[in-house]
Amino acid sequence: MIVSLLIKAGRMIDGRGKIHRDVNILVEDGIIAEVGPSVVAGPDTRVMDFSESTVMPGLIDAHLHITSTGDPDPLKKLRMGVPYATLVGAAQAKNTLEAGVTAIRDAGAPFNAALDLKQAIIDGLIPGPRMVVSGQGLSITGGHGDPANGWPRHVDFLGRRPVDSPDDARKAARQELAYGADCIKMAATGGVMSMGTDHTVRGLTEEEMRAAVEEARNRKKRTLAHAQGTEGIKNAIRAGIDSIEHGFWIDDEAIEMMLDNDVFLVPTLTAVHRIVEAGTEKGVPPHAVEKARVGQQAHLESFAKALERGVKIAMGTDAGTPFNIHGENAFELKLMVGAGMTPMQAIVASTSLAAEILDLDAGVVEEGYLADLLVVDGDPSEDVEHLCDRDNIRMVMVGGEVKVEK
Ligand SMILES: [Zn+2]
Repeated sequence: MIVSLLIKAGRMIDGRGKIHRDVNILVEDGIIAEVGPSVVAGPDTRVMDFSESTVMPGLIDAHLHITSTGDPDPLKKLRMGVPYATLVGAAQAKNTLEAGVTAIRDAGAPFNAALDLKQAIIDGLIPGPRMVVSGQGLSITGGHGDPANGWPRHVDFLGRRPVDSPDDARKAARQELAYGADCIKMAATGGVMSMGTDHTVRGLTEEEMRAAVEEARNRKKRTLAHAQGTEGIKNAIRAGIDSIEHGFWIDDEAIEMMLDNDVFLVPTLTAVHRIVEAGTEKGVPPHAVEKARVGQQAHLESFAKALERGVKIAMGTDAGTPFNIHGENAFELKLMVGAGMTPMQAIVASTSLAAEILDLDAGVVEEGYLADLLVVDGDPSEDVEHLCDRDNIRMVMVGGEVKVEK
């Protein structure tokens, strides 16, 4: 039997930048079957009346760490093992879904934890958003995420794989793909949270990244690069990367390279904002606070330049970094608006554009797309704050199944 639902939308934001008034959305077997003012319900169709609310695609977070907690200092949790991280991930997946996020891309979790969480959600064991998983990221010895940089010796599950040659990178990418990774993450520079790394300095070489990109492309998978310093950003683009994550120091040449190669930017403004806001007083390690402070202004300038020049920007929070809490994902839209986007641009970055970089047929309210929908009170295209308050959420749907209803 075909499961069908008719959603009456007073206001509908389509995910591509347009608002429609008084339209009906017919959902059949998890897919949007028809959209229009005169679409009617059949005899077995359940009708959901949201004529006083806004219907839009569910939010998509293109960069987070579902097994990381947002503790000020991640070191404190590292005595716990992978089972604990997986349980944390289950709780956070629920929070994320209840906040109106219908799809996420996990950008690094210990071992197979994120892949297992994805499977548990598909199997209906736990509630959560649709997941696209990058598996364990590739990084050089001594680079971003390498526990050798002064971390306790027993720590070996930061969700990174050491890679020190193109052959290493090829093998690591092949293994991650064999485990079921949906995309391959690599560290093109050092990072804010990694002790002992300099985020302005390159990580993996262009040749190392190119080998991993080749393997991903061979399997029709995308690649993403943690990249903050300019040299690493350019190395990643030349290697054929699909998205630059963070992108603190993007110069004019890098902007041109991104435009020429259709490379996305996933800025993750929340990560830096929360670390700078909290500071060492709230327990964030001094090296991380210092690096976030050094990078923040350049980051905001790079974001504004990318926006102005028309680089495709997808929303990502990096939730799981200090005070960057799963379920507060929509805060990133506020920061993107604060950094120069219109509310509608921030919504498009969080729906259709994020779906594109995740390779999902979602993020748009149009015939043929996945019925991953969010209903909120108020008009988020006027003020994205309407997406930030959980009490405002009327309904969350993933694949035509109602997950939250109020
Ligand atoms: Zn991250």
